[in-house]
Amino acid sequence: MRIAGIDVHLHWTFWLVPVCLVCNIFGFGEQVWFVTGVSLFLLLNLSFCVLLHELGHALVARRFGATTKDIIIAPFGGLARLTGMPKNPGQEFLISFAGPAVNLVIALLFAAGIIFAGGSLIPPSVFESLNQLPLILLWINLVLFLLNLIPAFPMDGGRMLRSILARRMSYLQATVIAGRVGQFTALFFSFYVALEQQFLLLPVGIFLFLSAQFELNRVRASEVNELERDSAEADSAER
Ligand SMILES: [Zn+2]
Repeated sequence: MRIAGIDVHLHWTFWLVPVCLVCNIFGFGEQVWFVTGVSLFLLLNLSFCVLLHELGHALVARRFGATTKDIIIAPFGGLARLTGMPKNPGQEFLISFAGPAVNLVIALLFAAGIIFAGGSLIPPSVFESLNQLPLILLWINLVLFLLNLIPAFPMDGGRMLRSILARRMSYLQATVIAGRVGQFTALFFSFYVALEQQFLLLPVGIFLFLSAQFELNRVRASEVNELERDSAEADSAER
C-alpha cells in the first residue's frame, strides 16, 4: 500500500492477532462472535490512528528534507523509517512531536464532536454499542498522545528530550543523557509492573530498556564513523 508516495507495510506480528483471537474463541462461550468482532474492529481503528501518527512524522520530516523509507504498522504501534534526518535540534523536535500532535488533534476533534452532540467524555468501561466508538477513539488517541510523550527511547518523548538537550551540548552527550533517562524510566516501569504482578507487561519494560541502549550504540557508531571520515579527509588534504 502507498500513501502520499510512502510505502506502508503491516508487520508480520499483525497476522498473529487473528490467530490469538481464534485461540481465545473457546473462552467466551456464546458471546464469542461479538467479542471477536469488537476486538478486531477496535484494533483496526487503533491501527488507523497509529498510521496517521506515523504519517505525521513522515510528512513533517519530508518538509525538512528527510525521506521516509517506509512505514511499518504493528498490532499496537508503528514505525516510520526515516533516512537523512536533519541534525538540527529544532527540526528533530518538530518531526518527533508531529506524531503525538496528530493524536492530540484527533482526540480534540472527537471531544468537540461529542460535546457538541451533548454526550459525556467519561471513558466507557465496556464496549456496548457502535455509538461509543467516537468516545473510545477519543481516549485511544489521548492515551497514544500521552504515552508517546514519555521521555524514553524509542518513544517520541525520548527524541524530543534529546533535541532539547542537544541545543546545549553535543548530539552524543544529549543522546547519552536522554538514553539514561529512558532506561531509568524503563527500569522503574518494570519494577512497578513486577510489584503489581502484571508480568505480561514486563517484556514492554525490557524492550524499552534495550531500545534506549540500541539508540545510544547507533549514535555512538555513527559519531565514530564521522570522526574517521573527518580524519581521512584531513589526511588526504595534507597530501
Ligand atoms: Zn511517533
